[in-house]
Amino acid sequence: MPRFPGPVESRLPAVGTTIFTVMSRLAAEHGAINLSQGFPDFPADPALFELVSKHMRAGSNQYAPMAGAAPLREALVRKAEAGLGTAYDPEHEITVTAGATQAIYTAVTALVRPGDEVIVFEPVYDSYAPAIELAGATVVRARLRPPEWRPDWAEVRRLVTPRTRMVMINSPHNPTGGSWAAEDLDALAALTRGTGIVVVSDEVYEHLVFDGRRHESCARHPELRDRSVVIGSFGKTFHVTGWKVGWALAPRELMAEFRKVHQFVVFTVNTPVQLALAEFLEDPARYLSLPDFYQRKRDLLRAGLAASRFELLPCHGTYFQLAAYGRISDEPDAVLAERLTREVGVATIPVSAFYDTPPAGQRLLRFCFAKKEETLARACERLAKV
Ligand code: PMP
Ligand code: GLN
Repeated sequence: MPRFPGPVESRLPAVGTTIFTVMSRLAAEHGAINLSQGFPDFPADPALFELVSKHMRAGSNQYAPMAGAAPLREALVRKAEAGLGTAYDPEHEITVTAGATQAIYTAVTALVRPGDEVIVFEPVYDSYAPAIELAGATVVRARLRPPEWRPDWAEVRRLVTPRTRMVMINSPHNPTGGSWAAEDLDALAALTRGTGIVVVSDEVYEHLVFDGRRHESCARHPELRDRSVVIGSFGKTFHVTGWKVGWALAPRELMAEFRKVHQFVVFTVNTPVQLALAEFLEDPARYLSLPDFYQRKRDLLRAGLAASRFELLPCHGTYFQLAAYGRISDEPDAVLAERLTREVGVATIPVSAFYDTPPAGQRLLRFCFAKKEETLARACERLAKV
């Protein structure tokens, strides 16, 4: 076995394996129902597979253009214009990425310099802070508070300094299921007005909003769209998290810098899949039906847990439901999540994984409801006994 002949100084000394990998692995080891890592257990539309196969057979198997296959860039720009009312230029203002994770990493690497500060909102998706740290910048943490998980704008205002280079936001929000209101975007616009601050807006759950709410996108906001990199992902929208195809929309000046990095991180994304997605996007019903589809699953999970000792928090979007377990146990969430996987046969995500320092006494687990009805029913049956 090879051995590196010296010490390795880690660039990310505090980072281990992501909680999603840890819990999915534990679920597999114990044969537990996996409501931890966020992915559907049902298939995508077979028409999408036919399209990929068609483009492979037709010979579209070599490098796509660096910014993305033109039909996909054009389809995404049409989708943004129809849904959000903002015209982006497919030549200069969109890049197709290898998933949202790469888009986030690329945006931070391209636009944040050593010594800068980047504001994030805890609980925060796990990839943001490492990207900021690798750029040599400082992570500045604002707090979202239950049960609605919207920002305290007075707190955010206190965190802004002359070094603030970027604010990273995510709505609808993983893990809380919260979503920001139009006033939140107005507050962010007011806070950044007259500054060079860039907003990275992670909108991978843009179509997973419930109860008739509207997704408030930075791409729609008349001021924020000029300073935002807006990120989306087909993983959530078309039930193909394993395909890792996403995109970033931004004004030309920001996108030019984004592409300088993108071309050396992945250069370009899977060609036949891009062409298939472009065609699949031609029917907007394929994504406009998602709120009803997932709201039904949310309601099934909530109804199934209504009589349990878990206390359910509001869920306005995403495919995640938070549950407080104070009536069940005093254990830290990571300990309980592990025990439930082993003893009850249901894997979940401990919400403390989304914090640098979790709030004392916060006892929350995250359940993913992107699952078949029978999976949700079986999980609820087990969880009702806890
Ligand atoms: N951002 C958020 C908030 C997510 O929940 C996820 C994954 N579920 C991602 C980014 C990453 O998306 P992708 O799989 O397209 O990289
Ligand atoms: N975003 C998914 C989640 O929150 C997981 C993605 C991953 O495993 N990195 O569960």
